[in-house]
Amino acid sequence: MLAFSLPAPTGLAFAAGGTAAPSNSKVKIKTGKVWTMKGPVAGDTLGTTLIHEHVLFGMIPDDLRAASVEFAVKLLNDAARVGVETLVDLSPNRDIQLYQEIASKVPVRIIASTGSYVYSRMPKAIQNMNEDQMYERMLREVTEGIDGTQIRAGIIKVAAGKTPFTEWEQSAFRAAAKVQKKTRTPIATHAIFEPRAQFDLLVKTGADPKRCFFSHIEAEFGWAGRPLEQEAEYLLSIAKEGGYLLFNNFGFEFDTPWTDMVFLLRHLSDKGYANRILTSVDCNWEWKKGKVVFEASEKHPETAKRTYAYMITDAVPAMLKAGFSAKEIQTFLVDHPRRFFSGE
Ligand SMILES: [Zn+2]
Repeated sequence: MLAFSLPAPTGLAFAAGGTAAPSNSKVKIKTGKVWTMKGPVAGDTLGTTLIHEHVLFGMIPDDLRAASVEFAVKLLNDAARVGVETLVDLSPNRDIQLYQEIASKVPVRIIASTGSYVYSRMPKAIQNMNEDQMYERMLREVTEGIDGTQIRAGIIKVAAGKTPFTEWEQSAFRAAAKVQKKTRTPIATHAIFEPRAQFDLLVKTGADPKRCFFSHIEAEFGWAGRPLEQEAEYLLSIAKEGGYLLFNNFGFEFDTPWTDMVFLLRHLSDKGYANRILTSVDCNWEWKKGKVVFEASEKHPETAKRTYAYMITDAVPAMLKAGFSAKEIQTFLVDHPRRFFSGE
């Protein structure tokens, strides 16, 4: 059993049509509304939150739509069972009909995203957009709804590769920053390479650092040769200016050895910036030859264990073992997501 207990899930009350009650907060914290797939909720009711995940990822073959729903529902119910209450989906170009079906069957609140992922994985329609068109689409999806539904995106996702960023990437980042400036919608980025340059571009265009988080910053192949200590300082510079850093390489030794991940988390904490740390799994899987394949699991079969629930069943115990307290871990999974969505 875990020597760690997160707040009891409130999800079932939510699924039954009730208003999700604050899970563990006796003190009401004033926060704005956050748009989930089932409508707006108060920011202080998010509870245990996985802030960078994928309900579905990539192309869903027509003959595997039902199986996709079934598998996603299973993973989300497993997550609910171990205490996950809210999950942020960072697939910004998703099939909203499938998502609706999935969301209706699970107690976990899902926050959908708009925006874009890496260029090569986007459909032509998004690849061909200029900055104004990106802006219009993002704005529409956060203020009106996604693809003709009333489901609004609660977060904007953007992605870039190595510097110098392409024109298309820069357009996406600028469009996201402008939509945030207008609507306060938070931004999550795919930042394997040069998160600092992404941070500067967003902030220069008007984004609020406290409403931006940078993902995959711990993937060592993205460090441009900077050694661990230097990388820790590089990342600290983002935290010092208010940006959030997302760590998700739990059980991903080949990209980030666990000792290095602990070093980075510890470094940020020791320097007084634990409040900029977010943690999640980035669970994503695709169909290959009719079989579910989790990210990297063909080469590294152990990564097939990295479901949403893995955060609680494996990553949390690993952090406890590495010396982080249950209180610290709770801030990563509960308090910081709530603060991020309220811009604190
Ligand atoms: Zn992801």
